[in-house]
Amino acid sequence: MKSFLRKAALVAACAAGILSAPTEARAWTGLEGPPYPVWGILPVKFYVNASTFPPEIADTAQQRLVDGFGAWATPECTDFSTQLLGDLPDGTWNSNDNKNVLLWINKPDPWPLELGPVDSVIGVTLPVWSPDGDNMIISDADIVFNNVGFCWYDSITNPGGNCVGGSPVDTLSIATHEEGHFLGLGHTDVAGSTMEPFYDGGNAIASIEQDDIDGVCALYPPGSGIPSCNACTTNAAKTECNGLAMGCNGQCVGIYNCEASCPIAKTPADYKACLDACKMQFPDGVKAYEAYAGCICNLCSKSCPIECPGDSGAGGSGWGEEPEGPKIEESGGCGCSVEGQRGKLGALAALGLGLAAIARRRRRR
Ligand SMILES: [Zn+2]
Repeated sequence: MKSFLRKAALVAACAAGILSAPTEARAWTGLEGPPYPVWGILPVKFYVNASTFPPEIADTAQQRLVDGFGAWATPECTDFSTQLLGDLPDGTWNSNDNKNVLLWINKPDPWPLELGPVDSVIGVTLPVWSPDGDNMIISDADIVFNNVGFCWYDSITNPGGNCVGGSPVDTLSIATHEEGHFLGLGHTDVAGSTMEPFYDGGNAIASIEQDDIDGVCALYPPGSGIPSCNACTTNAAKTECNGLAMGCNGQCVGIYNCEASCPIAKTPADYKACLDACKMQFPDGVKAYEAYAGCICNLCSKSCPIECPGDSGAGGSGWGEEPEGPKIEESGGCGCSVEGQRGKLGALAALGLGLAAIARRRRRR
């Protein structure tokens, strides 16, 4: 599958002459399209590389990066949101590794030639997207800030900055602009917008304006934050539930094989008795399966309402709350219905790679 790479640069005020060229105002744009590239799953997770924060703003840089994203998540007409996962000291910008890293490049390192002129490009966002059905889905985006050709300050804690001889740029302003690219916006011609391509100094673009709001709300309207059940469970199995998935990988095969051996043709009562016997025989497998299924359901109850009824995931499905013990076959809960995968042992064997395929199936009744 082909990926596309787009570099979006915020160009310094030295190019302001271009601004005066008479152009017809063009409202917000996407990175390309339509279809506009967007993230498929919210919140979008990101890291910072704190070791790269310029000394002048080291104390507040992380907060400003979070604040910038917060501005985009604030309008009521959008579901866009992000989540800071933490510091990634070895995080770099030149990789498509599904880790979204925000970092600075500092002297004495050179500003990479491929990112544009060192004295005019303040920041670059590098989103990667590819087709997914009718949609364009962003899978990776890093943001690189230029502390080689510019002097960074914090307009909130140090309004004047301490820049001597360097062109001062406000952290929150530049962050907010680049984070607009990160979420999928291109440049706009609407004067005063954060997504105008040129920075005139100061902190006027630290807050987003109507055209910016129109853009983020068009890309992420209410409801867009709910991924498909498949996407949610796959993502959950690779991230928050990965440890439990791996645990189940080692523990669940026994009960899977046992339950798969319960003949379908028997009466429901016989079938249930067989399943109960399996659960007695493989209590550790039941536990591991429950833990994994509960994790999936907690994260995906909105995406998988049939598989995970109720808002509270595991609890809402009654998972693990039955006084007489686990009820995998009756959970109705997030699949984890071993028997729903009858004849598909491969799916379980490949647990670490994608047990999610199991987790979204309901038991065959
Ligand atoms: Zn830009």
